[in-house]
Amino acid sequence: MFADTPHVSAGNRRPIANLLDTEIGVRGSGDYVTMPGMAEPIEDLFDKIVNLSKRRGIVFPSAEIYGGFRSTYDYGPVGVLMLRNVKDAWWRSMVQLRSDVVGLDASILSPPAIWEASGHLTNFTDPLVDCRKCGVRHRQDKLDDPTTCPSCGTTGQLTEPRQFNLMFKTQAGPVQDEGAVAYLRPETAQGMFINFANVVNTSRKRPPFGIAQIGKSFRNEITPGNFVFRTREFEQMEMEFFVPPEEADQWYEYWCNERLSWYVEHGMDPDNVRLRPHGDDELSHYSSGTSDVEFQFPWGWDELEGIANRGDYDLTQHIEHSGQKLEYFDQANDRRYIPHVIEPAAGATRTMMAFLMAAYHEEVVNDEKRTVLRLHHRIAPYKAAVLPLSKKPELTGPARELLAMLQPHWLVDYDETQAIGRRYRRQDEIGTPYCITFDFDSLEDKAVTVRERDSMEQVRIPIADVPTWLSEHLV
Ligand code: ATP
Repeated sequence: MFADTPHVSAGNRRPIANLLDTEIGVRGSGDYVTMPGMAEPIEDLFDKIVNLSKRRGIVFPSAEIYGGFRSTYDYGPVGVLMLRNVKDAWWRSMVQLRSDVVGLDASILSPPAIWEASGHLTNFTDPLVDCRKCGVRHRQDKLDDPTTCPSCGTTGQLTEPRQFNLMFKTQAGPVQDEGAVAYLRPETAQGMFINFANVVNTSRKRPPFGIAQIGKSFRNEITPGNFVFRTREFEQMEMEFFVPPEEADQWYEYWCNERLSWYVEHGMDPDNVRLRPHGDDELSHYSSGTSDVEFQFPWGWDELEGIANRGDYDLTQHIEHSGQKLEYFDQANDRRYIPHVIEPAAGATRTMMAFLMAAYHEEVVNDEKRTVLRLHHRIAPYKAAVLPLSKKPELTGPARELLAMLQPHWLVDYDETQAIGRRYRRQDEIGTPYCITFDFDSLEDKAVTVRERDSMEQVRIPIADVPTWLSEHLV
């Protein structure tokens, strides 16, 4: 009877040439931004997301009962579902719906040899400056004015920059010597490179093919901040796509388009997400092209994901340092080569925050403010909520039976407290697409009322049809 949230299909994809030429250099600023579909810009969107996250169990500051631990966050009962859905949506697009990408789950603890080969031990640094006046440290390349301390406002008191390595060093095993040094990975990507030969030998994949991984990464960021945008512990979703060298440019364009489309297909307004190609001064020496997918955050455009055409740099480095053969032998053409790599590297936690911001809406309904998260149903923490109209057992009994009927298929919430209007509002605030109300008439007509989140339209359907109805509406 009513349609689901409108999604953008592949038909909305724009060619990369178009995106690369036209969408460079716009930077937003100010205290608020206009978000998709909104009549009015939302003031203090950032604070509202932080407050909503705390109030509804999405994200909590970590170690709060001990005064907090800077830049660490815990994902609460609702947030853990949403974060998992972000990762599942990525995995679905990148692995499940393709036959040319396989998965991997590599270890977080890793020996220095990997990071020596990858260049991280020497190059994974940010320029650090200290303020001589207030003592606060800053990342120089992120300062609006590189001569002024953003903490105390003093000009001319910042030290010369020195390179600060972002990797967390630890010790593996009980003996504290050089041989025990280990690092927490600062990216998941190296897991794919060091397992290249293992995957080729076991998976029957041949270039062009990819290896995808989702997992935690750790960076000792100089200035973490903006809630979960930049943290020292975070989750990444990365894929290394290995291709014959002559196909690298075309695959780079392909993946730039695919990745931008993914955000739009999952509910972001095409006006608030864009591709920004790196200028020559930003490119690493081995990269022939890198583009960032950027989202319009309340503080302006900022990175969600980087897509890089990395050449054969990574495999070559590991060949040199490990002495292993990490080439591909193309039997059909009797040719041996080192594949080139296209790497789309996204942040799961950062992307979840962007989805929260893109989905946040406020509107007035019957003279009351309604806050609603218009999340794509794949990202929404719960797909539905079963709400008996009263707490009387004659209603809660059959309502729980309906819940049990739906739970094997979807994450479904259940709530029997408070007035029904307030329960609807609570579900709106966490983005639940469908509320299913079991009322006294349900006992007679064996039907329930299903209310859709965005339109608030209601439809009465037989209880027995609810699973089919939901599966048709949650496609
Ligand atoms: P930045 O320039 O913001 O430091 P980066 O270019 O170093 O990021 P990449 O190494 O390309 O980031 O990592 C890929 C993705 O991982 C980023 O686009 C981002 O979404 C995520 N990411 C990187 N660092 C962090 C962090 N400290 N906290 C949360 N997410 C992060």
